[in-house]
Amino acid sequence: MPIDVAALASAGGRWHDEGVPELPEVDALTAFLRERAVGHVITSAAVTAISALKTFDPPLGALVGGTITAATRHGKFVDLRAGEGDAAVHLVFHLARAGWLRWFEEVPKTVLKPGKGPIALRVKLDDGSGFDLTEAGTKKSLAVYVVRDPQDVPGIARLGPDPTDPSFTLEDFQAVLDGRRTQIKGVLRDQSVFAGIGNAYSDEILHAARMSPYALAAKLTPEQVATLFAALRETLAEAVQTASGRPPADLKDAKRRGMQVHGRTGQACPVCGDTVREVRFADSSFQYCPTCQTGGKPLADRVLSRLLK
Ligand SMILES: [Zn+2]
Repeated sequence: MPIDVAALASAGGRWHDEGVPELPEVDALTAFLRERAVGHVITSAAVTAISALKTFDPPLGALVGGTITAATRHGKFVDLRAGEGDAAVHLVFHLARAGWLRWFEEVPKTVLKPGKGPIALRVKLDDGSGFDLTEAGTKKSLAVYVVRDPQDVPGIARLGPDPTDPSFTLEDFQAVLDGRRTQIKGVLRDQSVFAGIGNAYSDEILHAARMSPYALAAKLTPEQVATLFAALRETLAEAVQTASGRPPADLKDAKRRGMQVHGRTGQACPVCGDTVREVRFADSSFQYCPTCQTGGKPLADRVLSRLLK
């Protein structure tokens, strides 16, 4: 299948998924909203991209008049709770590849035109502040849910354990990997296995662990599992710390700057100086360092090898 570069460029801007906010960025975004929005009443909530709203009961209007009482992260989902107890309604969203949150101390007075422009949802609060959820490009996958229970969101109900949770141990990690005869890269970013890790941080974790993305999860030795677990915890903890306290507008750049191999095809590996390589798929790619991770051998490029068949 030929690669549609124009479509990719408009969908995400680049080959790799650097735009997808993962656990550290969503964590910082949630902390920002906890700090800034909790305690305020929602005075309006309007959807301009109808396709972004995935639920109809309760209606979007059920949020209006509710005080935001909590901001929580579930994997890569943000959950804002309005009201308390049985009356609570949750606004849940997933930013996907090209979505983002734009915060306003003073929400602009401009009238939103349904179906036009990048704004998918606008929420206003009682002090005049608020936020837009925006999505660039034509491939729309930003998702908004209004639910009584976050577990009503299928993507949240499916989530595996949060690997940054202090109660998640090396033994738990080993148990999750046991019996999975699939490539570790895919296992790490499978949301039903581990919540919150995507394409970017799985590249970084594997690089830190000096492990091939194609290694089979079930075949890792106990030492390799321990190394991988330590790399996972360290990489994510460092990224969470870097992202923490930054305003939403800075998070994407902070994420990009922190990357050692992800999104750095052709550049020098900061650890060994070898050239970072990539494997490309139809709509994504991942990066790795051959010297650090694959005994110096380049991995087969799946797109190319399929074309050559
Ligand atoms: Zn290297």
